[in-house]
Amino acid sequence: MGYIVPAEYRFDYKSEVALALQMYPQISDQFFFVEAVEQNSHVNPVFQGYGPLWDKHKEDAAAREAVKDTVIGVLGGSYSCATRHKSGLSYIVMYFRRMWQGASTTSAFTLDHELGHQLVPSGFGDSAEKLDGESAADAFACLRTLQRFGPVVGRKMLIRESNQRLTAPLYTSRKNDWVHLTGQMLVQLIKDTEKKAFHELSPEDTIAEAEYYATRYAPTRAQAESQWARLNDLVDDQEIGNYGADTGKK
Ligand SMILES: [Zn+2]
Repeated sequence: MGYIVPAEYRFDYKSEVALALQMYPQISDQFFFVEAVEQNSHVNPVFQGYGPLWDKHKEDAAAREAVKDTVIGVLGGSYSCATRHKSGLSYIVMYFRRMWQGASTTSAFTLDHELGHQLVPSGFGDSAEKLDGESAADAFACLRTLQRFGPVVGRKMLIRESNQRLTAPLYTSRKNDWVHLTGQMLVQLIKDTEKKAFHELSPEDTIAEAEYYATRYAPTRAQAESQWARLNDLVDDQEIGNYGADTGKK
């Protein structure tokens, strides 16, 4: 099988949307895609929508208003997100900051993470007890990384990703970002690459496997909060953000 070489990969949102729709035709009825466009004024943001469901709703004033609200938050906080909006619409908003343009594989992981939120049953979980929503999104993104880049290179990329997910407070400017401390689930999944051919899973089995990891290995809230508190103590508030770029995942 031909896998992508990370150095040769260039993230292109439109092609990625087409690929996602091809792998998961159910997306056509479930959610659409938005690109938040950076600009000076955040009051009237510019955005671009993609996908069959957006084509259906793009002339609808209420839908445009809902998306606009989400895009304002995204531009203000510099993140990407998946949402089930109170309007009843579901969508992914991707934000590509100018400084990230070289980081194509990071954009792919971010989009796969947001797809995981929308496609995996527990994707919007994050119950009072455990981080199953973020774990479902990350597990899906990990499996897609192995499928995109192959079991050898993909695994190395996941080891780097798990480091970020274990020590998030050192890398992010967000406060109390303990919901993204899914590292122990990633470590388990990376370990299991020795006995499971994740890179060969069908699209539907990929969803099922991500759900399995979220259900079984998501950290509890108590674990994540205490890990956050322990790590956060190591970092001077003034220094947060100096250790690496915020990856923009949410
Ligand atoms: Zn997330």
